[in-house]
Amino acid sequence: MKIDQRFLLAGVIGWPIMHSRSPLMHNHWLEENNLNGRYLPLAVEPSKLEKAIRGLNALGFSGVNVTIPHKQNVMQYLDEIDPTALAMGAVSCIHAREDGSLFGKNNDAHGFIRNIKAQSPEWRANAGPATVIGAGGGARAVCYGLLQEGATEIRLVNRSIEKAQALADQFGSAIKPVAWQDRENALQGTKTLVNATSLGMVGQPALELRLDDLPQDALVADIIYAPLETELIKKAMLRGNQGVGGLGMLMHQGPLAWELWFGITPSVTPKLQALLEKSLQA
Ligand code: NAP
Repeated sequence: MKIDQRFLLAGVIGWPIMHSRSPLMHNHWLEENNLNGRYLPLAVEPSKLEKAIRGLNALGFSGVNVTIPHKQNVMQYLDEIDPTALAMGAVSCIHAREDGSLFGKNNDAHGFIRNIKAQSPEWRANAGPATVIGAGGGARAVCYGLLQEGATEIRLVNRSIEKAQALADQFGSAIKPVAWQDRENALQGTKTLVNATSLGMVGQPALELRLDDLPQDALVADIIYAPLETELIKKAMLRGNQGVGGLGMLMHQGPLAWELWFGITPSVTPKLQALLEKSLQA
């Protein structure tokens, strides 16, 4: 069936979900591309995940993005998962294929790296050690992306050290687990610092981290996008480091989902960025 002969349906599955800016972004693209369709926030509680996923094809969805807390659990209900998502142990995007099967991918690492490169074209993952704080789903994508880009040492700090160790066991010896209380020592010589915890997000406590030992040429990234600039990014920029917020990570994974669902590559434009920023500032 031709794409302009049907009502396109996609969405984002999470619990809770109403804070998500994905509907704003994807509906902007539907409009910009003159397409008849809608991208919906789908609040699916964990106990109903299987039923929701299995209903996608019958309802005519092209696919969905997947967010907290479903990224790992959803994997068991899919017919095929691409190797990158398998390696990350999480799926962020599902394609409900025309043959009725469900295919899972993970676009988080791509979004993370594209965002940094868009804001800092000269940045190199292999310029020196990276320090990543957090070992949850977001951190897995960050570490995967950094390793793909050639990082040779990632100091992985996490409150629960066993999760950092599990990630090191899976991803290899470039990942060096660091205890939470040693996080400031880990900053010595660091060239890329990433906050991949939920600390600093709206409604959460700030990430407590003195930056005294961080080299001034280090790039500091946060994957949080609400607020647009976390305290960590503000503090880093005040002392001369380059800061990269998390909104671009969200924006740059969108086109990959569209290619899968609709065979179209939408554009990440200043207009889209301004729209999302306005909504986040409101
Ligand atoms: P997650 O899997 O639940 O992981 C949360 C991480 O934060 C864990 O490492 C956890 O440590 C740590 N943490 C939470 N509370 C803490 C505290 N009080 N003290 C120390 N550490 C704490 O979540 P996620 O999916 O990785 O998401 C993390 C953040 O990234 C969220 O804000 C999410 O919105 C954002 N994110 C953004 C994008 C984007 O596109 N920009 C994509 C993915 C995620 P423990 O292991 O010790 O619990």
